[in-house]
Amino acid sequence: MADKRDYYEVLGISKGASEDEIKKAYRKLAKKYHPDVNKAPDAEAKFKEINEAYEVLSDPQKKATYDQFGHAGMDGFGGGGFSSGFGGMDMDDLGDIFSSFMGGMGGFSGFNFGGSSSRRTGPIKGDNRYMSMDIDFLDAVHGVDKLINITVDKVCSYCNGSGAESRSDIETCPTCKGSGRVVRQSRTPFGVVQQQSVCPDCRGSGKRIKKVCPHCGGSGYNSVKEQVEVSIPAGINSGQQVRIAGYGERGENGGPNGDLYIEIRVRPHKYFRRDGNNIRITVPISSIDATLGTTVDVPTAYGDVELTIPAGTQPGQQLRLKGYGIKDLRTRNTGDQYVEVQIEIPKKLSREERELYEKLANRKKDSVFEKFKKSFK
Ligand SMILES: [Zn+2]
Ligand SMILES: [Zn+2]
Repeated sequence: MADKRDYYEVLGISKGASEDEIKKAYRKLAKKYHPDVNKAPDAEAKFKEINEAYEVLSDPQKKATYDQFGHAGMDGFGGGGFSSGFGGMDMDDLGDIFSSFMGGMGGFSGFNFGGSSSRRTGPIKGDNRYMSMDIDFLDAVHGVDKLINITVDKVCSYCNGSGAESRSDIETCPTCKGSGRVVRQSRTPFGVVQQQSVCPDCRGSGKRIKKVCPHCGGSGYNSVKEQVEVSIPAGINSGQQVRIAGYGERGENGGPNGDLYIEIRVRPHKYFRRDGNNIRITVPISSIDATLGTTVDVPTAYGDVELTIPAGTQPGQQLRLKGYGIKDLRTRNTGDQYVEVQIEIPKKLSREERELYEKLANRKKDSVFEKFKKSFK
């Protein structure tokens, strides 16, 4: 293994190369050194080397292990012969390489397309998780930051997900020699039939870990309790969700975690009611104030606001406080507050009040009811 070239060097790319750059470099070189095309004596070895480098660098988990441990960490990955060279690659990606390959397979002993059993699954993002959170009405209006405690699986920082205590603890699976598969031969009347299956000892990983990482017990990840700040935007309404990236279920094959979705439930307020982006409130006014007009300090989500009740205000009348509603999540336009006036009729009067009311009553010869009766005839 000592004379193995660096995989990045093999593909002629830098360590920071993107997935796309890796793929491009691979395709270019694979075409150039394809044994069908290139008859140079070292072409086959080069082609093999290129495929091996690509197999590792195109797989996030293998790449991470390689970046940390170098070739030592790859013992179980690369050495499995040519058949492993094409894992992780879509047949679509292969395009013309693939088709020329099929034509020239004759001279290629040891190469095995292997069917579906040899194709690994790529990195899979974990499932999303869902939870709900109750918040106060005014927090929904103004927005709020909430801390939540959550348990999430994170890639073990000690072994970087390899599951081994050190690089020297990762070795090639002796059963499958690193290919992750075992081949069984059986004789039939039609000849020898080869059958491939996933290696039972390494379950397809191709590697064996001598000493497991003490920080994750060999799983490559740890369940950690974290306090996460959830930023709830102003204007959120019941049923809307806040997404927290990366706090969902663990990914597979080196894939990222899913996301966490928090459904917000807004607790009802004792007086404020939400109506779209408007806020409604009902305030009681005495019949005298409604008759003569007055000014009142009306509570709003933004503090008290002086509101003029005009003389002759009727029960149920709506007065608008412009801009004292809820900020729209998308447009950021703010709604209004509507104040509904509820006229309170006193149930008890002091003697003085009674006298004053009677004075008013006596003065009015043509009462509201009399007018109604007249129009009724
Ligand atoms: Zn670990
Ligand atoms: Zn094995």
